[in-house]
Amino acid sequence: MIYLDNAATTRVDTETNDVIAKYNSELYFNPSALYSVSGDIKIELDGVRDKIKNMLGASRDSRVIFTGGATEASNLAIFGSVVRRGKSYVFSEGEHPSVHNCALELIRRGVDVSSIPLDKSTGEVDYDKLDEIIDDNVGFVSVMLVSNETGAINDIPRVVKIVRKHSPTAIIHVDAVQGFCKIPFNMASSGVDLCSISAHKIYGPKGVGALVVRPNLTIKNIVFGGGQEKGIRSGTENISGIMALGNVIKNYDYDYIKGLKDTFIRGLSSVADKIRINGNGSPYILSISIDGIRGETLVHSLEQYGIIIGTGSACSSSKIENRVLNNMGRSKSEILGSVRISFGKNNTADEVEYASKMFCVEVNKLLDMNKR
Ligand code: PLP
Repeated sequence: MIYLDNAATTRVDTETNDVIAKYNSELYFNPSALYSVSGDIKIELDGVRDKIKNMLGASRDSRVIFTGGATEASNLAIFGSVVRRGKSYVFSEGEHPSVHNCALELIRRGVDVSSIPLDKSTGEVDYDKLDEIIDDNVGFVSVMLVSNETGAINDIPRVVKIVRKHSPTAIIHVDAVQGFCKIPFNMASSGVDLCSISAHKIYGPKGVGALVVRPNLTIKNIVFGGGQEKGIRSGTENISGIMALGNVIKNYDYDYIKGLKDTFIRGLSSVADKIRINGNGSPYILSISIDGIRGETLVHSLEQYGIIIGTGSACSSSKIENRVLNNMGRSKSEILGSVRISFGKNNTADEVEYASKMFCVEVNKLLDMNKR
């Protein structure tokens, strides 16, 4: 199989599976217990917290709250932040459903919510519109680091500068899921308050993530229970998952992945005039619209060669509409004909070249069929 849907999720290596097994079968102790083996686990968890902080460039005294993935981390950031009544919230139109649907929930609760449109060519947030929209009543802003749909990379330091110019005390949250360990980013020097990350996009298990909180920022719990994670996220920590997350945190080879994406794009010359690349930031993600075919048909026709690609984001693939591409001004038929190819460390140049070749074959075939 040639797996090119690494933005949806990634494969857990044997070495990381061994870590999971070790902490389920040998070192399975509850970190909240008083005996010393539990204390050791607690120390190991703190080691993973330090690793996350180092990788994210978070300051030493920031806090890492382990969660059941990035969806929960972002929910905690949005609903756990202390924002004065009457203050407004601002979200980018590009946000993943785990953030976008929180915005919809805030609207349902009567909160004043605004959205920042995307730049139609790059897919980044429209910085000029951000400058217009933010005022001193904004209490919370959420802008993702890398779009899971298009790979567009937002200039987070620029976002922070604009927000702070108008509203110095606004809380700024960044969903860093598709950028963590993949592209250079520094939480502290960017001036970001909260960051969400997830393990399963970087060869860790599903259902593990964290919210990183800058020092002196209050976060309130949104679930109630035994008071783990300093009372902010009750529930016994997923030790094996967290240790596995610790095992996969490293800088992945940006240049290698960029080489794979370049190889794929080079192979598209025979369909170059029939496709449109949506945004072009992160080397990990390539979003392509083909007017005149259905993305899902292309996904299935490539499957016969063992090539796995995605249609838009996996979380929203059951829906025809694509909010992000729609916001970038793509037509309905371009959106219907959109696919997402996403690269990972286990892909080779040869398989990417083959996938690109078969991609062209199938695109030409489907376009011809639809013409008849
Ligand atoms: N944010 C982005 C940008 C994502 O791509 C994803 C994954 O689909 C998530 C959040 C949700 O992460 P999780 O599956 O850990 O809840």
